[in-house]
Amino acid sequence: SGIRVSVLGLGAMGSALAGALVKGGYATTVWNRSAGKADDLVAQGAEAAATAGDAVRASQLVIACLLDHASVHEVFDPLSDELAGRTLINVTTTSPEQSREFAAWAAGAGVAYLDGGIMAVPHMIGQPESSILYSGSADVFERYKPLLDLWGTSSYFGEDAGLASLYDLALLAGMYVMFAGFLHGAAMVAPAGVTAGEFAARATPWLTAMTGAFQGLAAVVDGGDYTVGGQQSLEFSHLGDLLAASSDQGIGTEVVAMVQRLIQRQIDAGHGEEGFARIIESIRQPG
Ligand code: NDP
Repeated sequence: SGIRVSVLGLGAMGSALAGALVKGGYATTVWNRSAGKADDLVAQGAEAAATAGDAVRASQLVIACLLDHASVHEVFDPLSDELAGRTLINVTTTSPEQSREFAAWAAGAGVAYLDGGIMAVPHMIGQPESSILYSGSADVFERYKPLLDLWGTSSYFGEDAGLASLYDLALLAGMYVMFAGFLHGAAMVAPAGVTAGEFAARATPWLTAMTGAFQGLAAVVDGGDYTVGGQQSLEFSHLGDLLAASSDQGIGTEVVAMVQRLIQRQIDAGHGEEGFARIIESIRQPG
């Protein structure tokens, strides 16, 4: 490709990203704070830089995969002169506000900046199921898209550098609450002698099928009229039964009670006849 790229941060994720670039034929320079982590990559054909400054000077394109926002500042603050005129793609996990803060730092230093959020674990890197979300410079995204596509499916959300992180965290919010729901179900059936593995075998096809309801809920939310969509009304949801059955099994009720509180606030506000999508109003306006 003729493009030289430097990767700073060779933890589990940084190593996977750098390995994909080497495999993809990019001349790759790597650097890690503590020694030893570059050895495998050097054996594959990467070049090791002795310092972060050397790594930055080696390439027009610099990729950061460090621990967090603070470590990104720690590494790059002393290198703003070296970075000026170069491109930085930062795939370190940060909050939207931290991404915007670092984008402003980069703009001040004369650095073209793209922020990334990785929706994958290291062994998925290089497969289409690995999804990486980007925001910040559209020019950088367009120019380096063939390189980014070596890591998985690349999506761009806009010039606001915080957007990728916002999407990343919103998707994780969905994941964590779903996982908690699955574990609640597993805890419910456990006293009946059902293993978590047996429950998982039922839950996987069920929850997979239920994701088919997202677009219907979304259409109601986007339309703003919660009386349409043929959903079961809030008053007839089964949450009461669910809470009682959980208590009867001797387990906690926090997971289900959380959903019931969101429902109850809408019933109390006079919306009990409306559909489940209505609870987004409880979420939008914290009680
Ligand atoms: P690791 O803990 O494996 O690696 C962290 C890396 O950051 C190491 O290279 C470490 O260097 C470096 N580092 C930490 N603090 C500093 C510092 N102050 N100065 C210089 N370098 C520092 O983490 P991962 O590789 O797994 O994760 C890297 C990023 O990727 C994180 O932001 C993470 O959230 C994100 N990510 C990871 C995923 C995963 O499944 N692993 C999934 C999605 C995103 P040293 O070796 O010297 O300690």
